[in-house]
Amino acid sequence: KAAGRNAVRFFDPEMQAVASAHAELAADLRQAWRDGALTVEYQPQVGEAGRMTGVEALLRWDHPARGRVEPSQFIPAAEETSLIIPIGSWVLEAACAQIAAWSARPDRRHLSIAVNVSVRQFRHPDFVDEVMTCIRAAGIEPSKLKLELTESLLADGIEVTVAKMGSLKAMGVGLSLDDFGIGYSSLSYLKRLPLDELKIDREFVKDILTDANDAAIAGTIIGLARSLGLNVIAEGVETIEQRDFLARQGCHQYQGYLYCRPLAIGQLEAFLDETKGTAAIPEPSSVGS
Ligand code: C2E
Ligand code: MG
Ligand code: MG
Ligand code: MG
Repeated sequence: KAAGRNAVRFFDPEMQAVASAHAELAADLRQAWRDGALTVEYQPQVGEAGRMTGVEALLRWDHPARGRVEPSQFIPAAEETSLIIPIGSWVLEAACAQIAAWSARPDRRHLSIAVNVSVRQFRHPDFVDEVMTCIRAAGIEPSKLKLELTESLLADGIEVTVAKMGSLKAMGVGLSLDDFGIGYSSLSYLKRLPLDELKIDREFVKDILTDANDAAIAGTIIGLARSLGLNVIAEGVETIEQRDFLARQGCHQYQGYLYCRPLAIGQLEAFLDETKGTAAIPEPSSVGS
């Protein structure tokens, strides 16, 4: 196998099946994009006293035959085919339009929208200009837009990444480091990135009550964020116990099924009306901060 790697790969029927399934997914995605079959859902982010501070925009694809295709499946295909460039632009525009709609409403105007940005998008030479154009066209307050970036950006080199992030930050856009802890970040890099927020990956939150290592990592990330003067938000919070544990470690912003699943815009509006923007989850009882 090791000897004839290229030949083996090409003629291995199993790999060929994987490759064609892959190509089919990419073709279906291109079709879905043409047909306008992609949508965006929004998941609330909750701060102190259960108050909703904003939402994260999450792409959805409902395929006529496959049913719902998970972003973890189709985002990689979107990246490989570069479809993520137009799709990402569309999510950004949708988010800015939604921020504009909310800014006209006193009960909504404090809400921010976080948009995931893939490395492919961030790397594009027009990205910074595009964000600027989007904000201007929608006439929104730039700080209401948050961009969620990942550590994989650093593969392009620290200088270029810091410069680009600096331009976005200068515009007033919020910058969050998503999935923090699972990438290869170096603390000396972290210090140089003009960030506003660290987002603790769900991977560490999941077993926080039973796995001492995860608990230690989450606690360390929270401490790190605090000492760097950054906001910190935990993703994938599903239970009150997880939330209380995080709160005791000094985290006061959460996103997860405990509060709300990602919702289509109509459902989200109804949820905001019902809850009056404050989630009815009991507050941590004896938590000092
Ligand atoms: P992410 O940015 O880390 O988003 C958080 C993911 O956790 C979302 O998965 C969300 O639905 C899920 N989640 C939130 N709360 C809970 C919870 O309490 N329990 C569990 N089990 N899961 C929870 P989703 O929507 O499947 O998205 C997966 C990933 O796909 C995202 O991870 C993000 O990296 C990517 N993605 C989604 N939308 C976009 C987009 O518009 N652009 C780009 N570039 N990537 C996107
Ligand atoms: Mg995200
Ligand atoms: Mg995340
Ligand atoms: Mg994640």
